[in-house]
Amino acid sequence: MQTDPDCVFCRIVAGAIPAARVFENDRVLAFLDIGPLAEGHLLVIPREHYARLEQMPPDLAGDLARCLPDLARAVLRVTGAPGYNLLQNNDRTAGQVVGHVHFHIIPRHDGDGLGYRWNASSYPPGRAEELQRRIRDALATSPA
Ligand code: 5GP
Ligand code: ZN
Repeated sequence: MQTDPDCVFCRIVAGAIPAARVFENDRVLAFLDIGPLAEGHLLVIPREHYARLEQMPPDLAGDLARCLPDLARAVLRVTGAPGYNLLQNNDRTAGQVVGHVHFHIIPRHDGDGLGYRWNASSYPPGRAEELQRRIRDALATSPA
């Protein structure tokens, strides 16, 4: 199993630094975010070190995703939040600070003031079709 001695989440997996763990199995660990955006904000990580989601073996990504519904349900029940955001950042440009794959489960309440810019745009004529074709071609040459 690959680990990175300089990675804070690998150090949590190893027990070298403490974390408020709420769930673990042989491949996945979930714990409270130390800087919560809301009470109950969880991080869900693979035990093995991968910096980014697209680098993970699909079966491990599946193991990670499989844990999310139960964890989300538990957080909703405990916090009383009616909703949550699932957030998974890849790369500094996307807001990733810790280079070990993680899903955030962030409880949401009416008027909580959390949010992000969603500056929707639109495609000029032909551009969506071009992207559709190119992404389909990319999947065909590098299948999931
Ligand atoms: P990112 O911006 O990479 O998606 O989010 C990284 C998250 O990891 C942040 O929300 C931050 O609060 C959390 N975090 C960073 N270091 C630690 C730590 O040592 N322990 C815990 N529990 N969370 C951490
Ligand atoms: Zn790591």
